[in-house]
Amino acid sequence: MDAGLKRELEAKVYAGERLTREDGIALYESDDLAWLGRLAHHRRTELNGDRVMFNVNRHLNLTNVCSASCAYCSFQRKPGEKDAYTMRIDEAVRKAKEMEDEQLTELHIVNGLHPTLPWRYYPKVLRELKAALPNVKLKCFTATEVQWFEKISGLSADEILDELMDAGLESLTGGGAEIFDWEVRQHIVDHACHWEDWSRIHRLAHSKGMKTPSTMLYGHIEEPRHRVDHVLRLRELQDETGGFAVFIPLRYQHDFVDSADGKIRNRIQARTTMASPAESLKTFAVSRLLFDNVPHVKCFWVMHGLSVAQLSLNFGVDDLDGSVVEYKITHDADSYGTPNTMHREDLLHLIWDAGFRPVERNTRYEVVREYDAPPTLAERRAEPQQVWA
Ligand code: SF4
Repeated sequence: MDAGLKRELEAKVYAGERLTREDGIALYESDDLAWLGRLAHHRRTELNGDRVMFNVNRHLNLTNVCSASCAYCSFQRKPGEKDAYTMRIDEAVRKAKEMEDEQLTELHIVNGLHPTLPWRYYPKVLRELKAALPNVKLKCFTATEVQWFEKISGLSADEILDELMDAGLESLTGGGAEIFDWEVRQHIVDHACHWEDWSRIHRLAHSKGMKTPSTMLYGHIEEPRHRVDHVLRLRELQDETGGFAVFIPLRYQHDFVDSADGKIRNRIQARTTMASPAESLKTFAVSRLLFDNVPHVKCFWVMHGLSVAQLSLNFGVDDLDGSVVEYKITHDADSYGTPNTMHREDLLHLIWDAGFRPVERNTRYEVVREYDAPPTLAERRAEPQQVWA
């Protein structure tokens, strides 16, 4: 990047000026990762100091049967496929109870767009989960699912959200966003929920007092300009509602190991690679700088590996999330051997080792517990160093 432009962008960031679309594209064109990290870290520190938030959550998918066939998706199954499943309500409650831990605070529930499950199933399952786990917040359903509920119920999103909130819904999830620009979206998304509906449903959720997450699936067939466009749409909506609590860049994944049948379901896999760690760090940094009105940027560490997750804390990220539980079930979530669940203690040490202060939050990003500041480097070096894979 031209040295003059670099100075100009740097001056804008340090003056707290809003960056433009052209600025965002220029930042992606820079290969000076350390410089990008420094700018993003400046902004992150202004907003969140040395705090790194996390929460104790588990994921539950009620069904993997889906009417759509998004090109990148390896989760969906068609009715009758060997490993297609749909949980009965009592089964979902039993599974959730099994995952409940004394300090579990959130259940994250997303599902396929099931062709025949009736709308009534969804509020009912929420009511029963809430009755069985009264202290656990329910973060459920993408905007895509809410739009699907409109289709199968004949109700409006307004009525649907009211009923789901009455049944215990605390927040929507941020999924279904992928990349909003139609140039890319038409090739990767097969359902009918695009920017107009996705933003309509989140706007509505915000008007009802919900704080929702926003996401972006990157590292497949999109170009940096599509990522910039995606973030600017969200930034504009955030100016209007202030309802997004966090932005989560999600790294597109290949099917490393497909389950029982060994079938690769991801239809763009043959013509795509995955974002490298450097590209992910750049994406975190540029997102932090461009999306100036969102309070938090999250690294979903299961997708990145623990060492990249630690590094991301110096590239704009201040929230680490994944299936964090009190017990450890290590298994390969990807080819890097990253665990898909971690002890709370492990996560605390991961954050301390990176030089930050852990803060446990709830679904609304309210502080549940503040932990000690990180030990000094000299103190850390006095003990054997843990290697985070
Ligand atoms: S809507 Fe698309 S991404 Fe979601 S489960 Fe169905 S096929 Fe997968």
